[in-house]
Amino acid sequence: MNLISLLSTLVLSGLPVTIPDADAEPSQETLRVVTTLPHLAWVAEQVGGERVEATAVGRGYNDPHRILPTPILMQEVAKADLFVEVGMSLELWAQRVLDGARNARVRRGAIGHVFAGRGVPVLQVPANVTRAQGDIHPQGNPHIWLHPLNVIVEGENIAAALSRIDPSHAAEYEQNVETLRKMIHERLYGAELCELITGRRLERYHRAGTLFDFLQRDYRGEKLADRLGGWLGKAYPKRGMPVVVYHRMWPYFEEAFGIRVVGEIEEKPGVEPSNSHLDELVKNAQQAGVKHVIHAPYYSSTKTRSIAERIGAEAIAVPTDVDATPECPDYPSLIDIMLARVYD
Ligand SMILES: [Zn+2]
Repeated sequence: MNLISLLSTLVLSGLPVTIPDADAEPSQETLRVVTTLPHLAWVAEQVGGERVEATAVGRGYNDPHRILPTPILMQEVAKADLFVEVGMSLELWAQRVLDGARNARVRRGAIGHVFAGRGVPVLQVPANVTRAQGDIHPQGNPHIWLHPLNVIVEGENIAAALSRIDPSHAAEYEQNVETLRKMIHERLYGAELCELITGRRLERYHRAGTLFDFLQRDYRGEKLADRLGGWLGKAYPKRGMPVVVYHRMWPYFEEAFGIRVVGEIEEKPGVEPSNSHLDELVKNAQQAGVKHVIHAPYYSSTKTRSIAERIGAEAIAVPTDVDATPECPDYPSLIDIMLARVYD
């Protein structure tokens, strides 16, 4: 009996049919990329182009630390060729999703798994890796994507992973990372300054923490800062603006755009504040002249509003991932909206 007639017999008999799955190899058409968070799916699409189909299991309005590892998420991951997570203990729930998916291609350590945050200069690294008092940032601050330059690093990591599972298109993925880098540079600094100084050089100064001083230099009788456009063109004039935040998720945004976080409502990441912590916070915020208390939409707006009131400031909900609201379907529009909420 040949295979076709065997299958027909089984189908007619009503027995369950499993067509032999000869290939653990990814399909030839498109690679299925599943990411933990929506901005990573956007990055994967930029880097993979038409070669990939990327979806996120988390939603932009979810707390990225606390996504429920449901069977539906596991089913998504069961079909994936590549699984992407930020790492640094941000998505502690991802391990359970991976376990439930039973997809050997994408388990941690396999060729189809990547930590997109690898190689990012990590901020707020504690002296000891500890979850003392419930701290949910034991390996440093994992909210890296709020600095646009870190999204380029995520792109590099995803491109390297795609090249591992699909080496014949490696050159294409590498080229797409360069396109992503150029797009982020132009969005960050404006096309004019990128032309004048080169995006690469601006990136280097930004990383080194010397960009803001560099922009004060004269160029043909004008300050370089006057040539600044893009996201930083909006944020730079307001650098040093003091804010209070709910969760300690803003250091990368602080480094990118120059706001100054005076304090957090949470006493430690993931830990409810004590009254004495809040009294101290209100005092410091008033002294610093804080006018904005910012929080991701999934944190308590009631608590944030009451603290803002005590300070004499305004509570502002700011989306922190792609698709958190219909206004930010991609990464560039996310940063647009974030800057508009924080600064306008
Ligand atoms: Zn966090």
